[in-house]
Amino acid sequence: MQKLMIFFFIIWTIAFPLLAEDDLYLEPQKKIQVSTIIIDPGHGGLDHGAVSQHQINGELVSLIEKTITLNIAQILKEHLEKALPDKRILLSRDNDTLIHLADRITYFNSIPLELDETAIILSIHANSSYNKNRRGYELFTNFDADSLFTKILKSEFTNTFGNDLPFLGIMNGNHYLPRNAQVPAIIFEMGFLSNEEDVKMLYNPSGIEKSAGALARWVCALLQYFDDTSFVARFKENADNSDVVDMNVVDMNVVDMNVVDINVAGY
Ligand SMILES: [Zn+2]
Repeated sequence: MQKLMIFFFIIWTIAFPLLAEDDLYLEPQKKIQVSTIIIDPGHGGLDHGAVSQHQINGELVSLIEKTITLNIAQILKEHLEKALPDKRILLSRDNDTLIHLADRITYFNSIPLELDETAIILSIHANSSYNKNRRGYELFTNFDADSLFTKILKSEFTNTFGNDLPFLGIMNGNHYLPRNAQVPAIIFEMGFLSNEEDVKMLYNPSGIEKSAGALARWVCALLQYFDDTSFVARFKENADNSDVVDMNVVDMNVVDMNVVDINVAGY
């Protein structure tokens, strides 16, 4: 009997660590899913954003960034609701309202989320520059975009606009919005209102529809990329280990003067 007990003890001491290791191995990796997509049309109300006028085909075309961003955002929301019925798609504004940057951040950061959920923020803007030749699209993010992220982005926009819309790059921008958002945030600058070529291509009803369609397909591809690479878990880990969140509001006015271009970006 004693021998039998010793035998079982030996078997138990050998097997238990293996089982424990196995259990650890089999424990599903904690996955954080994007449950919510917040579309943030830049500017609104008294904050017009960039304003421009161009003579196109003999007609004077006046453009206001706050209107364009809202138009794109509303169409994008419809596309995403169809493509991603299991996700919550929110708009930070759905009319011509002024929402201060600090209030946008309060809204973003107060959206209820489970521990295994995150939101992502897509803030939509139209660019402007004193250099009338400057054109194309660019992004600002609160994370380091890797080459795959860039490839997915470029592929969607090249498929939609060919090589006619230059890609200017992805900047890890130190702007108020991405700096203070607690979830992955992307500011999308969709071409320059100050450039006639961009205006001709993007800022007419069909250009706006194409832009919203490209953004929607890109968001779907982005979610797949986030899933495949555990992007959100890594983002959260980085955010927890660094001082990303800075609620010391110094630039809570509508216009964030830290922008590179014409200082009307408001993010
Ligand atoms: Zn803007």
